[in-house]
Amino acid sequence: MTMDHAPAVELRALSKRYGRTEALAGVDLDLAPGSFTVLLGPSGSGKSTLLRCVAGIERLSSGTIVFDGQAVAGPRQHLPAEERGLAMVFQDYALWPHLSVVDNVRFALRRLRLGKAESVARAAAMLDRVGLTGFADRYPAELSGGEQQRVALARALVAGPGLLLFDEPLSNLDADLRERLRVEIATLTRETGATALYITHDQSEAFALADRIGVLDHGHLVQVGSAEDLYRDPATPFVARFTGLAGELPGVVEHAAWSDGCRVRVEGLAIGARQGTGTSLAGGQRVRVLVRAASATIDDGTDGHPAGLPPALGSAPSAVVPAVVSDVAFRGRGYDHVVEVEGGHRLTGIFHARRIERATQVSLRIDASGCIAFPDGPAIPGARAGTGSGTGTGTGAAPGRSGATVPTRSDEPLAAARQG
Ligand code: ADP
Repeated sequence: MTMDHAPAVELRALSKRYGRTEALAGVDLDLAPGSFTVLLGPSGSGKSTLLRCVAGIERLSSGTIVFDGQAVAGPRQHLPAEERGLAMVFQDYALWPHLSVVDNVRFALRRLRLGKAESVARAAAMLDRVGLTGFADRYPAELSGGEQQRVALARALVAGPGLLLFDEPLSNLDADLRERLRVEIATLTRETGATALYITHDQSEAFALADRIGVLDHGHLVQVGSAEDLYRDPATPFVARFTGLAGELPGVVEHAAWSDGCRVRVEGLAIGARQGTGTSLAGGQRVRVLVRAASATIDDGTDGHPAGLPPALGSAPSAVVPAVVSDVAFRGRGYDHVVEVEGGHRLTGIFHARRIERATQVSLRIDASGCIAFPDGPAIPGARAGTGSGTGTGTGAAPGRSGATVPTRSDEPLAAARQG
């Protein structure tokens, strides 16, 4: 299958088992042509498995993958990776160490059978676009991690693939570089018009890059939506935790007096909250109020509406509760505070332009629109409150890759020998 345009991708009931491990449990997902989708989940949630199945590096246990109406993987079908018309960018760059930068990029053009002059010209033009003018004759070992990843990006883009797959490409880079390269990935990918699927365990990366985000929890795709959808209306406590919380307040519903909101008694405090998606809370029910950092402000008399949240519920106005500052961190634009409310419950990441010292008594305004009440249940493994950045660092077990339009670690020397 050749692909000179951005395909629509349909994933239907994808399942993948490794022995007793169910890495993917019936995932359905549609990617619109030219869209940028990010799969977000902690380590072990099945992100790499899904990406490898789409790439054709891994076989499905069941389900189908369709590119533009044509099945590429299914019960009796498995189109090899190199015939799927896609390119992939890996976490560890996967460059050929014995090839110069320009030849690494040209490698992706080999199937087009261009003359040498033309392939060098196209590779050089792509290197210019990723900011590597003048690097053509260097070798990967002579480059920084960020430069190597730019070469990998140029290699992925140079042949104009319709589908681009990104496997945590920024994980090995420093924060500052990560930010810059993230912007370039977003810009260049959108310029090419390719359909993009990107996996990460980093919520801020997902929010920054995606048109749509899919959240994976133990092989289940638990929610798909825009960053705003996920932030406003998380489908489950797991999604709420994984997309950034200030903290969680356990309490009891005072009355379930209106359709989507409630008042929750937390120790001696009364907090207004929205009811979590799909829940119907009753008075007296035990709940956890999941608090978005944007909804809690240290009250300084002004009345600003928090970004990213719906308007406050008329019937559940913001609560103003006493709190004590237990920590403060400088964040450049202002300060993030940790505050403690009654019962010793902590809320983190509470922004204020001014530094408020530890042990200061403050009034904390908690806007009901950013408080989401779910029935209290067992904690969900793999999620961590307050960070939104997940618990893991990578892609879990990574078996040898083969086949994609880039060389792979395991077969590099072999393929190199074949090339030579
Ligand atoms: P993520 O990319 O989100 O970290 P993975 O897709 O790598 O998650 O892994 C999902 C689950 O499948 C994990 O429990 C992992 O241990 C398991 N797994 C992944 N690859 C293999 C493999 N080749 N053999 C056995 N188990 C695997």
